[in-house]
Amino acid sequence: MSDKKSDKKKVILRIKRQAGPSDSAHWEEFSLDWRPSMNVIIALRDIAENPVTRDGKKTTPLSYDSNCLEEICGSCAMLINGKARMACSALIDDLEQPIRIEPLSKFPVVRDLAVDRQFMFESLKRVKAWIPIDGTYDLGEGPRVSPEIQEKGYPLSNCITCGSCLEVCPQVNEHSKFVGAAIISQVRLFNMHPTGAMHANERLEALMGPGGIADCANAQNCVEACPKGIPLTESIAQVNREAWKHALLGWLWG
Ligand code: SF4
Repeated sequence: MSDKKSDKKKVILRIKRQAGPSDSAHWEEFSLDWRPSMNVIIALRDIAENPVTRDGKKTTPLSYDSNCLEEICGSCAMLINGKARMACSALIDDLEQPIRIEPLSKFPVVRDLAVDRQFMFESLKRVKAWIPIDGTYDLGEGPRVSPEIQEKGYPLSNCITCGSCLEVCPQVNEHSKFVGAAIISQVRLFNMHPTGAMHANERLEALMGPGGIADCANAQNCVEACPKGIPLTESIAQVNREAWKHALLGWLWG
């Protein structure tokens, strides 16, 4: 008679562990019982609940970021079998085993798989990726947004700041300040909005310095990596045209 326990299908994961930002990294292997519809986040949760390695050694609890579990919050982006993707939508059955899991490499590691994406948020501040409202008086109704602009803007508004586009971009590295495709695409989004357009020049100027749009080398990896299917190369081309126009003719309207 077969031993039912040992017959259970297993999921093997190799995880890159790092205790803190200045600690060195090492790998640990885990073996879990397979369950139907299991995704990487479920596997990580199982390991966090019972941090015991494949060879039976108790280890430290696993750290990773996750929140919405439906590809909306962007927090669980990591390298899964070498590819930047969301752990919540990475189904175990679709992955080759042992499944290799690492933190994104373009951001500082906080601990294990949790990284600090502050660079992206600082870049969004740099380009003023918002519509300023001071709140001191009633501005009345804003300009109407045409259906054409709504249709173009909606896909751009789906950015979840996951950082996958920065991860795959060769121009985002320790020698460069390149803000990356996501931020450029947000400039396009806010500049196409009739209210946001009032500050379009400020956003373009923020992208005309070091680390701005001129640093894009057109590798086009970003558009492939984006889990939300955002037309990033189209955004970069559009913002590039706007930046050139502003550089050549901006002095005309001050
Ligand atoms: Fe992620 Fe796409 Fe936004 Fe880049 S543009 S941060 S890949 S959602």
